[in-house]
Amino acid sequence: MKEIYYFDNAATTPLHPQVLSVVTDTLTTIYGNPGSLHSVGRKAKQVLVEARASIAEHIGAHPEEIIFTSGACEGNSLAIKGYMEHHRDTVLITTPIEHASIAALCRQQSDSVRYAPVDWHGFVDLDRLHDLCRKEYLEGTGHLLVSIQAANNEIGTIQNLKEIAGIVHQYKGIFHTDATQLFPYEALDVKKLGIDMLSMSGQKINAPKGIGFLYVREGISLTPFNYGSQMEGRRGGTENIPYIAGLAKAVQLLDYNNVSMSRMQDYLISRLRRWEDDFIINGSFVHRLPNNLSISFRNIEGEALAMLLDCKGICVSTASACSTGSPEASHVLQAIHVPEEYINGTIRISLPRDITRRDIDYFTNTLHTCLIQLRHLTRYEDADA
Ligand code: PMP
Repeated sequence: MKEIYYFDNAATTPLHPQVLSVVTDTLTTIYGNPGSLHSVGRKAKQVLVEARASIAEHIGAHPEEIIFTSGACEGNSLAIKGYMEHHRDTVLITTPIEHASIAALCRQQSDSVRYAPVDWHGFVDLDRLHDLCRKEYLEGTGHLLVSIQAANNEIGTIQNLKEIAGIVHQYKGIFHTDATQLFPYEALDVKKLGIDMLSMSGQKINAPKGIGFLYVREGISLTPFNYGSQMEGRRGGTENIPYIAGLAKAVQLLDYNNVSMSRMQDYLISRLRRWEDDFIINGSFVHRLPNNLSISFRNIEGEALAMLLDCKGICVSTASACSTGSPEASHVLQAIHVPEEYINGTIRISLPRDITRRDIDYFTNTLHTCLIQLRHLTRYEDADA
């Protein structure tokens, strides 16, 4: 038995040993400011240039189209707010299931935001998206920006990025996607997919927390919120060279063979079905992340379940780590209409790459025991009331 079963990889991932070694080597040997002209600065600049080129190549972009950020919250904010501030007449079309960083920004800009609904699998309604884009194109007076996530962090549904980009471009819009959750599992070529801006976060691909990048297609102007000369004036602040080098290494190490993880996910579901028949698996069955399972149990307190599992060494989330602590039910689960008696009984299990059948056996056995315990307690409380 392991001490910890970490099944919360959608929240964050542990550092890869090779990434750690790049970060520590760079921290100890490359201390220069990449903006300095002397040899020490030039060495730092070289690391920066190489990291930028290697990441750009990975997504089919040019190096100058990559802006290093502190992660995807910043990338999302810079892409959307930066675009809307630069083009004050922008209308933003998005979905009701975006990450908290975008949802909060949209609430702030509410007059300029339109929502394309999602179905109960979490797929954006493409006809409605089409209608909204056309309406803004024909009747609107300004710029059109569409921001739709690549894969959902709570339910794992993967959107059809190419089709969405096609619709947006038909109406001369700009397409931004928050690719944080899909990036670890699918190779994304921004030019082939028609993505104009893409944000991601290193912490989901075994790089450190506090580093990520935003891809911005050449020709798109953003108003920065950090002023300075770095990143061609689009994101001021001396670059975090060790983390940038670590991020580039993590990107190089990405392995898109998801077959065994996906099988383990299916195995988990089949084990669960042996004992349980009263649960819902949220999101799509067809286009979903290979390791992100959102399960809702009827009349169960998801937080209590997650805490009981934690006592047995199993780490899972209730909805997403970013919305933990919010008294309201998840906006994603509400948008896909998870029934009331199930919505609070939701846990998100995001498996690691090296997951084994034994791990799943331990997990499902423990989950079964915890569910029995909780149902027992509820019955007891009901009898007391
Ligand atoms: N977008 C999505 C879809 C995410 O899952 C996350 C991380 N939970 C973020 C954005 C934010 O990433 P970070 O906290 O590293 O900025």
